[in-house]
Amino acid sequence: MAKKIGVLVELDYCVGCSACQLACQNYYDLPVTDTYMRVFLGKPDVVDGRHEMFMSPYPYRLDKCAYCLEKEEGNAPCAAICISHALHVGELDEINKLADETEGHLAVYR
Ligand code: SF4
Ligand code: SF4
Repeated sequence: MAKKIGVLVELDYCVGCSACQLACQNYYDLPVTDTYMRVFLGKPDVVDGRHEMFMSPYPYRLDKCAYCLEKEEGNAPCAAICISHALHVGELDEINKLADETEGHLAVYR
């Protein structure tokens, strides 16, 4: 049976650079119009007097993530390239544990 995969994004650290999306496209040799992970950028807003902007990668083919993890022995190409170490891809139990241990603003996809 395929392993259950989770993806965790530490939103306080993601800078919306899209390197993870490009790494995913590159790994699977996909055209620029196709991807298994897309980085979404929200509109800038003012919250409590500070400028804020939502940005986060969204993985929508976790079956492909399972393939990456197995092939790359746990080192997902998208997470490996993240300059801010904001992105974590792993087996669901690991990701749930990390989510419990990590403080701050998180997005968890399962
Ligand atoms: S998760 Fe990392 S690589 Fe992806 S957009 Fe955010 S900072 Fe960039
Ligand atoms: S784990 Fe693989 S398929 Fe999933 S988003 Fe990262 S590079 Fe793409």
